[in-house]
Amino acid sequence: MKAKRIIHIGIYILLFNFIININAQHIVRARSEIPFPDIPGFITLKCDFHSHTVFSDGLVWPTIRIEEAWREGLDAIAISDHIEYLPHTNDMIIKHGRSYQLTTNLASSLGIIVIPAAEITRGEPPGHWNCLFVTNIDALVRKDYFEAVSNAFAQGAFIFWNHPGWKQPDWKSVWYKEQETVYKRGQLHGIEIVNGDTYDPISHKWCIDKKLTMVGNTDIHNPIMLDYAVTDGKHRPMTLVFATKRSSDGIREALFARRTAVWFENTLFGDAEYLEPLFQRSVQITTLNPDMKPKGRVLLHIKNTSPVTYELVLRKQLKEISVPKKLTLVAQKTVLLEVRNGTNSFSGAKEISIPYSVTNLKVAPDKPLETELKFTFNFVK
Ligand code: ZN
Repeated sequence: MKAKRIIHIGIYILLFNFIININAQHIVRARSEIPFPDIPGFITLKCDFHSHTVFSDGLVWPTIRIEEAWREGLDAIAISDHIEYLPHTNDMIIKHGRSYQLTTNLASSLGIIVIPAAEITRGEPPGHWNCLFVTNIDALVRKDYFEAVSNAFAQGAFIFWNHPGWKQPDWKSVWYKEQETVYKRGQLHGIEIVNGDTYDPISHKWCIDKKLTMVGNTDIHNPIMLDYAVTDGKHRPMTLVFATKRSSDGIREALFARRTAVWFENTLFGDAEYLEPLFQRSVQITTLNPDMKPKGRVLLHIKNTSPVTYELVLRKQLKEISVPKKLTLVAQKTVLLEVRNGTNSFSGAKEISIPYSVTNLKVAPDKPLETELKFTFNFVK
């Protein structure tokens, strides 16, 4: 009897370990979606155009970049290994473009658009330049910097200047004659206004004045979770691209047409042309045509479906109604706006536009987006 019991206990222990092991191996691969709305005529794509792998000075294998991008809800990523800076050559064989090739299978099964790219890496000036959509990176291996850029341009590349403040005193970006030469030749298409944890207002202004495309990227070298708390709901900086189709060609067309915005922490940078519809499409007023009595008040329910908490400040008080000076529309929540009746002598339905500035939607370094929240009230006598 005793022996039988020991066998039984033994079986239970084996079974228990087996169940534990099954559970330990059951790791869920799940994607978090980034709920930016599309805007009229365009799909909103979430992209990171600057990343590194072990094929230059990064610390991860290329496929890991794709898995990270998929998990974080991105649509597209560029693998932009350095051309001139290759510190791992004693440990592995490096061929330009190999990091891109290694990603294509996984990228297509996960639905991530991967853009072939390379980073021309020189001292400042001229600094670091990302060339997207390159077809032959070896043609960019040139001693002469201008020749390298021209060869990328000849391949139809979209070329942007990375982190212009790098190695400048106080990170104050300087427009050198090298930049001017490439710009005048039409070979400079965009600038990173956000790189990693740094926003650069000087570059932002240049993009506006010189009609260049704004991009914001990670320049990630580590596994993403070492630099960004992505598992705690934080996000990497990224470029929002307003494309007509979700494809590499669609992104390329939109980049050349300057249809982008940059999402950095809780701020969006971009032209009003794109920030305004993005804001309006993500804000839904769910209280319809409420009755407003004399000296009455109404609680309006406003839902913000976007991942950005919008900070609104009233531009001027209205006489028909009175509303708080500040309003915070919390990301992915519904908030209440208390509206009090003003000095009205009329009755019936009336649409009222409340003029707000959204302080964390920036159309220029020190200029918030000016917008309106429109409500219809039914004024009752
Ligand atoms: Zn880089």
